[in-house]
Amino acid sequence: MAKLTEEQKAERAAARARREALAAEEKDRQDTVRREAWRRKGTRLSWDEYEAGVPCRGCGEPMCDGLGDWPGLMYLTEEEKRDHEAMEERFRQLHRQCMSGRWSVSGSRVTHCFQCCPPPPLGPALIEELSEIFRSSPSAEDRKKDQDSWELILTCDHVTTLTQHRDHNYVRPVVRCPECQVRRGVVHSKRLGPAYTAEGVEVNRSDFPAGGLLAGDQSAPGSVPA
Ligand SMILES: [Zn+2]
Ligand SMILES: [Zn+2]
Ligand SMILES: [Zn+2]
Repeated sequence: MAKLTEEQKAERAAARARREALAAEEKDRQDTVRREAWRRKGTRLSWDEYEAGVPCRGCGEPMCDGLGDWPGLMYLTEEEKRDHEAMEERFRQLHRQCMSGRWSVSGSRVTHCFQCCPPPPLGPALIEELSEIFRSSPSAEDRKKDQDSWELILTCDHVTTLTQHRDHNYVRPVVRCPECQVRRGVVHSKRLGPAYTAEGVEVNRSDFPAGGLLAGDQSAPGSVPA
């Protein structure tokens, strides 16, 4: 059997990257639709409702059953094993169509569905903790020295840039395209380097050869068998 040429390998990799970006974009779109529906119907519980023990409005099960986390499966007694299997079966019955992961509140055994059930509300203590982290984080001006620019090619073939902390070695899979004004999957990303000069001035990369990159990626999709 003939081996793939380097060019064929590159084409396949490009086609795969595009497929994955389109899949991420679709998942992101579904997540947005779901969050929008929860907001419209008031599915999320308020902190007071959660505290008062109001059941999940997604599935009707208690948010927290107070039974404590499951010990590791191998440590379950015979009775606990039966309980565990019964809860598994109940979850399968309630979420036949969902094909989704599940979550549970710490200290509780009942499981909820990522598809049907909004996550539990943030409590005042956690909100305070998050605001403290936010307050103690460096100012926008201070953060500039740690920011890198990235060049992204999106599923719509628009090329855009993104600025983020240097510690990140990849970019999030879906970003808003400033041209299309919708969220798009990222097909290709490339770190360009520091986003700001030592003086805190944005680095101008307007003459960066983005066009060549884009042309290369555009030629691949469609022409390569999946
Ligand atoms: Zn639920
Ligand atoms: Zn479900
Ligand atoms: Zn676009």
